[in-house]
Amino acid sequence: MNCQEFLESMFEFRRGEGKPEERTRSQAHLASCARCRQELAETEACFSMMKSCCGAEKTPEGLELKLKELMTSCCGSRK
Ligand SMILES: [Zn+2]
Repeated sequence: MNCQEFLESMFEFRRGEGKPEERTRSQAHLASCARCRQELAETEACFSMMKSCCGAEKTPEGLELKLKELMTSCCGSRK
Protein backbone atom coordinates (compact mmCIF):
# COMPACT_ATOMS: atom_id res chain seq x y z
CA MET A 1 0.00 0.00 0.00
CA ASN A 2 1.23 3.50 -0.75
CA CYS A 3 0.30 6.81 0.84
CA GLN A 4 -2.41 7.64 -1.64
CA GLU A 5 -4.11 4.30 -1.13
CA PHE A 6 -3.89 4.76 2.58
CA LEU A 7 -5.43 8.22 2.43
CA GLU A 8 -8.25 6.92 0.29
CA SER A 9 -9.18 4.31 2.85
CA MET A 10 -8.35 6.37 5.91
CA PHE A 11 -11.93 7.41 6.69
CA GLU A 12 -13.19 3.86 6.63
CA PHE A 13 -10.19 2.83 8.64
CA ARG A 14 -10.78 5.35 11.41
CA ARG A 15 -14.44 4.41 11.60
CA GLY A 16 -13.49 0.78 12.00
CA GLU A 17 -15.02 -0.08 8.64
CA GLY A 18 -13.66 -1.66 5.52
CA LYS A 19 -12.52 -5.14 4.63
CA PRO A 20 -10.31 -6.90 7.18
CA GLU A 21 -7.50 -7.33 4.66
CA GLU A 22 -7.68 -3.62 3.78
CA ARG A 23 -7.49 -2.74 7.45
CA THR A 24 -4.46 -4.97 7.89
CA ARG A 25 -2.77 -3.27 4.95
CA SER A 26 -3.64 0.17 6.33
CA GLN A 27 -2.23 -0.79 9.70
CA ALA A 28 0.96 -2.07 8.12
CA HIS A 29 1.31 1.13 6.13
CA LEU A 30 0.72 3.27 9.21
CA ALA A 31 3.37 1.36 11.12
CA SER A 32 5.94 2.15 8.47
CA CYS A 33 4.93 5.65 7.44
CA ALA A 34 5.33 8.59 9.80
CA ARG A 35 3.71 10.95 7.34
CA CYS A 36 0.46 9.01 7.27
CA ARG A 37 0.46 8.66 11.05
CA GLN A 38 0.68 12.45 11.14
CA GLU A 39 -2.11 12.78 8.56
CA LEU A 40 -4.34 10.47 10.59
CA ALA A 41 -3.59 12.32 13.83
CA GLU A 42 -4.46 15.64 12.20
CA THR A 43 -7.67 14.23 10.80
CA GLU A 44 -8.61 12.88 14.22
CA ALA A 45 -7.89 16.26 15.78
CA CYS A 46 -10.03 17.93 13.17
CA PHE A 47 -12.95 15.55 13.73
CA SER A 48 -12.81 15.78 17.50
CA MET A 49 -12.78 19.55 17.26
CA MET A 50 -15.89 19.47 15.10
CA LYS A 51 -17.51 17.05 17.45
CA SER A 52 -16.88 19.24 20.47
CA CYS A 53 -18.04 22.41 18.77
CA CYS A 54 -21.17 21.17 17.00
CA GLY A 55 -21.87 18.06 19.04
CA ALA A 56 -22.09 15.97 15.89
CA GLU A 57 -21.67 12.28 16.61
CA LYS A 58 -21.25 11.47 12.98
CA THR A 59 -19.28 13.44 10.45
CA PRO A 60 -21.43 14.54 7.54
CA GLU A 61 -20.72 12.34 4.53
CA GLY A 62 -20.13 15.33 2.25
CA LEU A 63 -17.48 16.71 4.54
CA GLU A 64 -15.55 13.46 4.62
CA LEU A 65 -15.62 13.34 0.85
CA LYS A 66 -14.38 16.90 0.62
CA LEU A 67 -11.56 16.26 3.06
CA LYS A 68 -10.60 13.11 1.25
CA GLU A 69 -10.53 14.97 -2.04
CA LEU A 70 -8.34 17.69 -0.57
CA MET A 71 -5.93 15.25 1.02
CA THR A 72 -5.56 12.99 -1.93
CA SER A 73 -5.02 15.91 -4.26
CA CYS A 74 -2.38 17.55 -2.10
CA CYS A 75 -0.74 14.54 -0.45
CA GLY A 76 -1.17 12.12 -3.34
CA SER A 77 0.85 14.28 -5.66
CA ARG A 78 3.60 14.89 -3.12
CA LYS A 79 6.57 12.64 -3.60
ZN1 LIG B 1 2.11 6.88 3.95
